[in-house]
Amino acid sequence: MSDTIAAISTAVGEAGIGIVRMSGSDSINIGKDVFVGFDDKKIIEIQNKKLTYGHIIDEDGKKIDEVLIAFMEGPYTYTREDMVEIYCHGGIISVRKVLELLLRSGARLAERGEFTKIAFLNGRLDLSQAEAVIDIIRAKTDTSFQVSLDHLEGSLSKEVGDIRDILLSMVAEVEVSIDFPEEGVDELTYEGLQADAKTVESKIEALLATTNRGKILRDGIETVILGKPNVGKSSLLNAILRENRAIVTDIPGTTRDIIEEYVNIDGIPLKIIDTAGIRDTEDLVEKIGVDRAKASIEKADLIIGVFDVSREFTEEDKKILELLKNRKSIVLLNKIDLKTGQKDEFLKELEEIDHIIETSIIENIGIESLEEHIKSLFYEGDINMESDIVVTNVRHKLQLEKALKNIKSAIGDIQMNVPLDCIEIDLRNAWEDLGEISGDAIAEDILDKIFKDFCIGK
Ligand code: GDP
Repeated sequence: MSDTIAAISTAVGEAGIGIVRMSGSDSINIGKDVFVGFDDKKIIEIQNKKLTYGHIIDEDGKKIDEVLIAFMEGPYTYTREDMVEIYCHGGIISVRKVLELLLRSGARLAERGEFTKIAFLNGRLDLSQAEAVIDIIRAKTDTSFQVSLDHLEGSLSKEVGDIRDILLSMVAEVEVSIDFPEEGVDELTYEGLQADAKTVESKIEALLATTNRGKILRDGIETVILGKPNVGKSSLLNAILRENRAIVTDIPGTTRDIIEEYVNIDGIPLKIIDTAGIRDTEDLVEKIGVDRAKASIEKADLIIGVFDVSREFTEEDKKILELLKNRKSIVLLNKIDLKTGQKDEFLKELEEIDHIIETSIIENIGIESLEEHIKSLFYEGDINMESDIVVTNVRHKLQLEKALKNIKSAIGDIQMNVPLDCIEIDLRNAWEDLGEISGDAIAEDILDKIFKDFCIGK
């Protein structure tokens, strides 16, 4: 008999409803114990997978909350076990009281990711699909959500499975040749193996080639907006967000802290970090912002420098310019709607910058061009971000790299007609490396580590 686990599955806070979830062989009995129907009567027969209205009552028969409850019999459930979900009123108190009652009634508190882990252990999901669940929960952009959903539906598992099938038939072929030496290990065996190994190599390389895109999809292009005070940084952020999230004011230095926002530009996720700007300041609060700004500049994928061409090019502008050189950067010459007598001077100073756009953020001039530049900087050609399989997970990337190393070693050995049993080892290793992506071959401690990343109740 498995443990019966319980947890609050919705985010804790003020909300319309909150869901407490339970899974395990005892869950239906516990659910029946703590529930009475609309007529205040205990239920004898559950209605499988139907919502039932009633109340949760404690050991003394006191009503804890008015709820809807769903009893779900395994194996056609998320975990493949019997499950119960209780839809309580939102907020902290109700869900917590219901959870505590379930724990007193025999369930134990679920660990992080345990529902999904059980689903994996019971074969409901493979490991890459289970990991996709957490990516879905964490997705911050439409595209990364879509990729994770594709992974959940098995797109990555299928591709990896196909490659493993090729490896397995290679291993089988090698074994036959070893076991029946009288058949002779002829040229054909080596030639055939080489062709298959090359196929495996190129398939793995194709998957690995998507990992950069995967990182961008997962984390967004980290973008920092730089410029001295009042050049239009906040206005730019707002123009991109098309909503007034940052404070836009005329007083220099009011964007005190760092604001992070996610936006999609034609499917390319940007994580925009609006900083307090770079300048020397005595103001402590602002200085914290400036220090953090410098740190985010270091690790940014893209820097957008904003200059105000209605004013002189100053020392401050010069400092900012230095930060843009030799980086992926785009310069905006802003406020071209005002007198732009200084423009030529700016252009002279900005000689080393490739991407320069004249903008009037206020009049919405140049924003589209900025988006075009971003796309061209990060994607040559028109890559369809949504259709291909994209490797977004660092663990998957590492396993692919290991497998690639093994298949390359096999290719080298085959070329030199090394004895087959040596080649077989590399092939088997590659097969196992890939097996760790789907979780077909994986150690318990790695499993624990993966599921620790989850939230409780998932
Ligand atoms: P920040 O300090 O760099 O964030 O600058 P803000 O975005 O707060 O803008 C400072 C001032 O410049 C605000 O009054 C904006 O309305 C104004 N501003 C921003 N962009 C333009 C522009 O393209 N043209 C004009 N004329 N004013 C602008």
